[in-house]
Amino acid sequence: MSRRLASAAAAAALLTGGQAYAQDLAAGAAELRDRALADGTAWSIVESLTTEVGPRPAGSPAMLRARDWAVAKLAALGFKNVHLEPFAADAWLRGPESAEVVAPFPQPLHVLGLGRSAPTPRGGIEAEIALFRSFDELLAQPPGSLKGKIAVVTQAMTRTMDGAGYGAINRNRTQGAAEASRRGAVAYLVRSLSTDDARLPHAGAMRQASDAPAIPAAALSVPDAQLLERMVARGRPVRVRLSLASRSDPAAPAWNVVGEIPGREAPDEVVVVGGHLDSWDPGTGAVDDGAGLAVTTAAAKLVGERGAPRRTVRVVLWGAEEMDSSGEAYATAHKAEIGKIVLAAESDAGAGPVWQARLPKGALDHPAMKAFATVLAPLKVVVSREPATVGGSDVAGLIALGAPTVGLTPDTSRYFDLHHSADDTRDKIDPRDLAQSVAVWAAFLYTVADSDIDFRALAGK
Ligand code: ZN
Ligand code: ZN
Repeated sequence: MSRRLASAAAAAALLTGGQAYAQDLAAGAAELRDRALADGTAWSIVESLTTEVGPRPAGSPAMLRARDWAVAKLAALGFKNVHLEPFAADAWLRGPESAEVVAPFPQPLHVLGLGRSAPTPRGGIEAEIALFRSFDELLAQPPGSLKGKIAVVTQAMTRTMDGAGYGAINRNRTQGAAEASRRGAVAYLVRSLSTDDARLPHAGAMRQASDAPAIPAAALSVPDAQLLERMVARGRPVRVRLSLASRSDPAAPAWNVVGEIPGREAPDEVVVVGGHLDSWDPGTGAVDDGAGLAVTTAAAKLVGERGAPRRTVRVVLWGAEEMDSSGEAYATAHKAEIGKIVLAAESDAGAGPVWQARLPKGALDHPAMKAFATVLAPLKVVVSREPATVGGSDVAGLIALGAPTVGLTPDTSRYFDLHHSADDTRDKIDPRDLAQSVAVWAAFLYTVADSDIDFRALAGK
């Protein structure tokens, strides 16, 4: 039989024999799951990255070492077509910082400047604080009412399994300084987006207002936010001095690092997965996002070791997620192949374990996804009836262009104790959770890459 006839016969068999097709995929996925559970690749990737590179903000000298580390690691793991895709990142790098209560009860505060914070003048800013227990309270202040003050928002974050607690108050960090500046504030302090009680502030990026002055902004540790609440409750004006130095470069050299498992039948059809290589500076970028890049890289490697899948699996280690630059750069560079991007997803919510799978819209009943679902029971993962909508910020641009995505949701209960803080270190990761996540991703990548599932067509049904 000719090749063409053989593949026509295979296609016909698919139509009539979906059962056998699903059984083959399920057997392959189960085999990968079991191999992943006993595999230490992801763990060794995180161990290597946090030990040999450490913190690596975009635009820093450490990011150069991270870039070289990533190229060497992907090549050593057997990926093909390993290369760099350069772009310009919006970089912000921290300088010396301090904060203290000046009156009425002088004592130091633990803060971290936020990405895109303006530096304070030399010697710092000293002003009375205006403290709000919620972001809505800040929004309720009329224009000009915070003139000359340091605005402080001390709203607490809720611990959740799916990151909803972070989503609910993310604007406190990202939009707080802009809203404070519009009301006349000279600086902004936010209670860290943290579920922990450690006296460690949690960093993160923010946006300055385009219609008001750029102001200094910093995160307070949770205990320090509570300290300011207690001082304010005593009824006397509280004065704070804040000193923040930083430098920024709106077009810093940056790179997405790419490696592929080339497909055997449809190499131009691509499954794009990965995590981000950059990190915030206080910790060593272990859970954010050493874990995510390690899990997806290890999963792709395992899929490749089973033999080339039908389609190409491409691992991308995005180079400036924390400053929102790498996803946009990637989408712009890959616009032309968007129709061939079968699926795009990023693992960027910690070290697991994965507890929920949200599949692309309309895909639940496809034999390939049913095959995937059959291997999940021992991994304690539930398949949600809700379709995936967000797949990580570095693939948001691809999704906006029409790429399907998946949500393999890790349990984030502990993630935000650590996220963007000095406590984001390797010891916080349980290697068994990491292996469980790899098992879920490997089974999923395999059932997508080795099948002909067309998520776009399914979504349209
Ligand atoms: Zn991240
Ligand atoms: Zn982050």
